[in-house]
Amino acid sequence: MRPLLILAIAASAAAADPPRWEQDFAERRAALGKELAPRHVELGKKCDLRRLHAVARTEYFRALELDPENAGAHLALGHLKVDGAWYDNPEAGARGNDLSDRGLAEALGRHRAARRVLAMEAVPRLQALAEWADAHLLEARALATWREVLQYDDMNPAARSATGWVERDGTWISAEAAAVRAAARARIEAAKAGWKVGDTTPLEEQAGWVLTKYRTDAFDFQGFLPESEMREVVKSAEAARALFLERFEVPGSRRPSLIRGVFVRNQKEHAKFLELQKGLTSLERDMYRLAPSWADPAETIFEVCVNPWPLDYPKERAVHQTVHFCLQSFAGVEELPAWLHEGMALWYSDVLTDRAYVLCCGGKDRDEFLQETPRWRRRIFSQVRDGLAPSLRDVLKADLDAMTPREALVAWSFTDWMLDGRRQELFAFLAAMQGGASQGKALREAFGVKGYDELEGVWRRWVMERY
Ligand SMILES: [Zn+2]
Repeated sequence: MRPLLILAIAASAAAADPPRWEQDFAERRAALGKELAPRHVELGKKCDLRRLHAVARTEYFRALELDPENAGAHLALGHLKVDGAWYDNPEAGARGNDLSDRGLAEALGRHRAARRVLAMEAVPRLQALAEWADAHLLEARALATWREVLQYDDMNPAARSATGWVERDGTWISAEAAAVRAAARARIEAAKAGWKVGDTTPLEEQAGWVLTKYRTDAFDFQGFLPESEMREVVKSAEAARALFLERFEVPGSRRPSLIRGVFVRNQKEHAKFLELQKGLTSLERDMYRLAPSWADPAETIFEVCVNPWPLDYPKERAVHQTVHFCLQSFAGVEELPAWLHEGMALWYSDVLTDRAYVLCCGGKDRDEFLQETPRWRRRIFSQVRDGLAPSLRDVLKADLDAMTPREALVAWSFTDWMLDGRRQELFAFLAAMQGGASQGKALREAFGVKGYDELEGVWRRWVMERY
């Protein structure tokens, strides 16, 4: 067993700075942490009394960020002290908020008011500390402290600009997220639309259709789309594939074979396409007829009905499906966890298209918000802040049929966290899975955590900083 390491504020020390300043900062930060941490524990206890157990956990986690040794917070989280060090207790389950909707709204309202009072005290002091760090050239310390200011006052203009955020379509996104998106868009611009195919395809012959057909080395698309639109769809898919292969340095042997896509206009054509698929049983055919699409991962082919979706749907569908195929052939694991498959596909949809019409999971309670991806960050941010996000444990264990859209959003966010500089850990995770390890074991080994709780703590902290 190792002591909990996640809770210490870790920013690499700027070696060139006079050590006295570093030490000065550490002392100031520790003193402030010791003062503020009990206030969060107090808030947490009030939340527990109001049966806002999930919100209470957020407060306890925050208390430990401020003061990693705060016993009140450790005990409230069910942690155990062994030989002077605190440990995550795998037996201690996380309780959710235990209230009806109306009671929940009221209790949350009270909690937010209490937190605003605490923020009025914490923000000026953290801000002063950040300015002190800035003045003493402790850049990394200043940045980490400005990010803490955002935890209390997420629209604080000084903290926003100090942490490099940019405003886009009325939504603030971090400098890192903005850079990833800009690079992704540039890839679509630069992608090749391939060449137009003149010959009649077997599908056209069998169905008696006349389709627009485009080919590249990696894609073979045909469908009832205008030529200009088909070119855009191919370019988006090409960009998704290129970005995926590049990011994961996928060797030739683990790249997907030619990806084929068919785009039809209505249910009648969809049904006809399914009729022509000889490998399907009549039961499967009936099932797929009710769905908007069909895919065969083994053959890297998908078919989709584009109505009644918006015009940019085919592009997003092509991106989503391409990522599924790429991930499958790259990972080489028969049964990849649902969160990884869906989280990864949603991640590419977001950075390349700003939209997520496609969601492979369960499908109930699909809210409109899910489709406009730039709003996801703020949504997750407030859910995590208020303790309303589904627990990471539930999300990582859910299978695709049972996963809710809210959980899919957390899956996306967890993937976002992984792709933010944790590629080697992801590789280690996949290698452990390939070696037959259970997901829990693979996660513990790859990410150096002792359990889902600790992993959740790391992810939550990152969400509070980045979203
Ligand atoms: Zn999917």
